Amino acid sequence: MTKFKQSESKLLFPQKKLTTLTDGLQYSILASSSSGNCLYIESDQHSLLLDAGLSGRKIEELMAQIDRDMIQVDAILLSHEHSDHIQGAGVLSRRYDIPLYANEKTWKAMESKLGNIPLEKKMVIDPESQMTIGNIDVLSYQVSHDAVDAQFYAFEKDKKQLVTVTDTGYVSDRLIGLLGNASAYLMESNHEIELLRYGSYPWSLKQRILSDEGHLSNEDAGLALADLIGNQTKEVYLGHLSDENNTPEMALNTVTDVLRFNDLAVNEDFSLQVALPETPTELKRL
Ligand SMILES: [Zn+2]
Ligand SMILES: [Zn+2]
Repeated sequence: MTKFKQSESKLLFPQKKLTTLTDGLQYSILASSSSGNCLYIESDQHSLLLDAGLSGRKIEELMAQIDRDMIQVDAILLSHEHSDHIQGAGVLSRRYDIPLYANEKTWKAMESKLGNIPLEKKMVIDPESQMTIGNIDVLSYQVSHDAVDAQFYAFEKDKKQLVTVTDTGYVSDRLIGLLGNASAYLMESNHEIELLRYGSYPWSLKQRILSDEGHLSNEDAGLALADLIGNQTKEVYLGHLSDENNTPEMALNTVTDVLRFNDLAVNEDFSLQVALPETPTELKRL
């Protein structure tokens, strides 16, 4: 077969990269709530988990529900040391020989809870850094939460991004600037303020949740999303809902109201859905 040198080829049309089924990222939020969080993300060659906050057994079951197996997972990234994010991490790392990634302070805070993890499986990913795991680009950024050094992650491949922000008391302007106009978001929508205020939680716990280092209310989630959503954004999931102080309907209604008030076409330009405690969202390609 004759091969043209680059300079000899005459292109009739501007070269355009065809999108194939192996481009971009696929993801499913396996579980999201105040009692356990885990997100699965894959490229054509690599698979990651963000957090492993349920038992190892439960996460294996959730993976099976989306036709995936823990054997495929190359790395588990951890956001912070709270048990709803790390409960199964030690077990899964040992059972499947998977490296765990977290920042240094988080490692110190969670080490005793994870059980024995060999040194070569302890990976450090500091806040405000960028690294590539397999062929998936990962960006880490600090959030405001009552853990030693909570950080969340954005994942990118082929100019498609999935941004995650849960467990934060507020979303700073810096994060809005860094994370705007992504293809998809998982955004915390923890509580409905009135339900929390008049609910049964002790006052100190209410104060903690409402503080700048607590969790985002439904209204906060709507306001942050109104600033973040752009013309590339196709999917928005609300997550980390409180079992006591929220319902999926309330979260959807409040966030929809805020977004519409800000002239965003909810469920036209992008979909808005709720991620549930132990029911994986459909595996979607970005
Ligand atoms: Zn937390
Ligand atoms: Zn949490």
